[in-house]
Amino acid sequence: MTDKIFWRDMYRKNIEASVTECDGSGIILDRTVFYPTGGGQPNDTGKILFDGQAVNIVDVKKSGEDVLHIPDTSVNIARGTKVYGEIDWERRYSHMRHHSAIHVIDGILAARHGSKALLTGGQIYQDHARIDINMEDFSREFVESLLKECNTFMLEGHSIYQREITRDEALSIPNLSRTEPGRELIRSLETVRTIVIEGLDEQADGGTHVNNTKEIGSISLTGIQSKGKRNKRIEFRLV
Ligand SMILES: [Zn+2]
Repeated sequence: MTDKIFWRDMYRKNIEASVTECDGSGIILDRTVFYPTGGGQPNDTGKILFDGQAVNIVDVKKSGEDVLHIPDTSVNIARGTKVYGEIDWERRYSHMRHHSAIHVIDGILAARHGSKALLTGGQIYQDHARIDINMEDFSREFVESLLKECNTFMLEGHSIYQREITRDEALSIPNLSRTEPGRELIRSLETVRTIVIEGLDEQADGGTHVNNTKEIGSISLTGIQSKGKRNKRIEFRLV
C-alpha cells in the first residue's frame, strides 16, 4: 500500500521513496506526494529521478491501495531503487485553492440555504472549476449573492485542516457527506479523513486543500449553464 503523504502534508512538494513495482503500466512507490485523479481533483504532474535519470510523470492514478505514476516514456526501474519525486507545485497549488473554494461554496450553501439548494458535484481544472447545484428557484442573483457571501467568509481568514477519525465518530457527525454514495463510502471505511473549514464545515474528503481560506483568493463567476429545470452548472475562476 502506498503511503499517501499528500493526505497528511498537503504542502509537501517532493519526496524520497523506494520503488515497490514498475512495469509497462507505470511506477508504484512505497510513499508519494503525487495526487491521483479523484474526487473532482485532477492528478499531479512532475518528475521522478533515479540512477542519474529523470522521467516526467504525466498522469497519476489510484490502483487499489497504491498510487500509480505514469511516465511519458516507458521505463524499467528495479524494485527497491531509491527515487526522488517532485510535483509541479503551481498546478497542484491551483487545484488546492479551487478545491477549497468548492468546499466553502458547499459549506455556505448548506449552512445558510439549507433545504433550498444542494451542491451535487464539482470538477476542478487547472485555472477554473465548476459546480452543479440542484435547487428549486434558481436565479443569477442568487448565485451572485452566494459567491459574495463566500468571498466575504474567505477574506476573514478561517483555517482549513484535515482530521482522521473513526467510522463511528464519522457517522455521528451530521452531513459529513451530503450524498448517499458518500455516506455509503463512510460506512465501508475504518478511518475517515475529513477536511474541516473552521467555523463552517467538515466533509469526508480525499483531496488536497490550502491552510487558510485567505489563500483561496476571490471567486469570480464566469458562466451559468442550465442542465435541467433544477440543475444548474456554475463555472468560476479565482482571482
Ligand atoms: Zn472535496
